[in-house]
Amino acid sequence: MEKIRLGKTEMMVTRLGFGGIPIQRLSEDDAVAVVSRCLELGITFLDTANAYTTSEERIGKAIAGKRDELIIATKSGARDRETIEKHLNLSLEHLQTDYIDLYQFHNVSTTEDLKAVLDPKGPRAVVEDARKAGKIRHIGVTSHSMDIAKEAVKIDQFETLMFPFNFIVLEAANELLPLCREHNVGFIDMKPMGGGMLDNATLAFKYLLQFPDIVCIPGIEHIWEIEEIAGIVQANARMTAEEEAEMQRLRDELGTMFCRRCDYCQPCPQEIPISMVMNSTGFAKRLPPQRMFSGWISEGMERAATCTECADCETRCPYELPIREIIAERSRWYQEAKKQYEQQAV
Ligand code: SF4
Ligand code: SF4
Repeated sequence: MEKIRLGKTEMMVTRLGFGGIPIQRLSEDDAVAVVSRCLELGITFLDTANAYTTSEERIGKAIAGKRDELIIATKSGARDRETIEKHLNLSLEHLQTDYIDLYQFHNVSTTEDLKAVLDPKGPRAVVEDARKAGKIRHIGVTSHSMDIAKEAVKIDQFETLMFPFNFIVLEAANELLPLCREHNVGFIDMKPMGGGMLDNATLAFKYLLQFPDIVCIPGIEHIWEIEEIAGIVQANARMTAEEEAEMQRLRDELGTMFCRRCDYCQPCPQEIPISMVMNSTGFAKRLPPQRMFSGWISEGMERAATCTECADCETRCPYELPIREIIAERSRWYQEAKKQYEQQAV
């Protein structure tokens, strides 16, 4: 599998990596089998997070005995020292390792988030100390906000940036990737398949293969998925005219309904987490049912039903998405799915 240089980390990583969200849905044996198959296919870059429940532990089991051949990335959404220290120690324990190649500040998508992770007395101090102690090799950041991502790249405090990028959402190609190149920041593409919205892997990866310096980390749940994607990446074929046309057709069709998770639509007077609700069908494809119907996702989805249709959000959405309509549709879908889940649980 071809490797590329990951920005100023100077680490050489496979162009195709592994995204560790969906293995939470599987039994432990199946999850370990999926990760093991990725390693057999030559993938050496694995990404996970403290927030992905069982993902780190399962990856830890699959990589036992092979640690030194791999580049392991994980992340923490903590914004204070105590919590990030706890998360880091848990990651090391779960991954069964004494070092993490790339430790990322997770979902830094607001000005407050960025301020918190840059505070030299905040979580950054813990991460820097861990780097000095050899527990962390490199420091990166992940974001869903274009403005914050750009800011994070420009200040030269992070070695890598993880951001959503696929053929529907072109902003990353046009704006962010050139900035990352200028600042020598490694670009890691989360959601190469639109977080579950795109199901044509050939189109998704042939498009992304045009960018020779990005690492794609599709979330993988099934062995056949990674086998298919690895085949496309290794063939490295050019897009045909028919594929170009199909991509444009999907762009035209989905582009009008595709939420970029930029959160420009906020604040909502009902405190509805709009981007989460808009993307909830993608979550449902990747997360275990118990996570869909409990905790913050459940709270957000229940709030969706309180939408007053004031339309404030729509006046702020730069993509002119019909937010009220989508929120109402997702809310109905969620209540129906919850009913079925509860019936199955009885
Ligand atoms: S239309 Fe609904 S989601 Fe949008 S701001 Fe108003 S209450 Fe919130
Ligand atoms: S609804 Fe529009 S403004 Fe809100 S997060 Fe999605 S794309 Fe951004």
